[in-house]
Amino acid sequence: MAIRLIVKDPDPVLREQAITVTKFNANLHKLLNDMAETMYDAQGVGLAAPQIGISKRVIVVDIGDEQGLVEMVNPEIVHREGEQIGPEGCLSIPNINGDVKRAQLIKVKGFDRDGQAFEMEAEGYLARAFQHEIDHLNGVLFTDIAESVYDISDKPRQARGE
Ligand code: ZN
Repeated sequence: MAIRLIVKDPDPVLREQAITVTKFNANLHKLLNDMAETMYDAQGVGLAAPQIGISKRVIVVDIGDEQGLVEMVNPEIVHREGEQIGPEGCLSIPNINGDVKRAQLIKVKGFDRDGQAFEMEAEGYLARAFQHEIDHLNGVLFTDIAESVYDISDKPRQARGE
């Protein structure tokens, strides 16, 4: 495993439409391992492959709840319900937080590292993390859709990055 460099806005890779994964092989496993290690090292709660310069539809999420680490390849939100507004940050946009409106509950479909399809429901903060990471795969950053953004560089860290 290796910690990868996290690319920062305005790196153009963050604006690309990431490519669908078709090979569930050792390279993908290494990518997922490195993404988890990089996320934990940066104390993030989620990471999308474009954030380490790899334009592929791969995300990892771990908000520190009982769900633990979730790896998802080619994730797709198939159902959205309700809404929530709350603060977000991003490992690719240091020192900025913003209030973002998200669905309260989602159903997300994707594949595990071996190509097995699975579906899960996420609510609240976990749902927020998924929506944030899946946006990255479509070149969308939270600052694009935030109701307000604020500089937190001179304050103690309020929200962990995603
Ligand atoms: Zn992010």
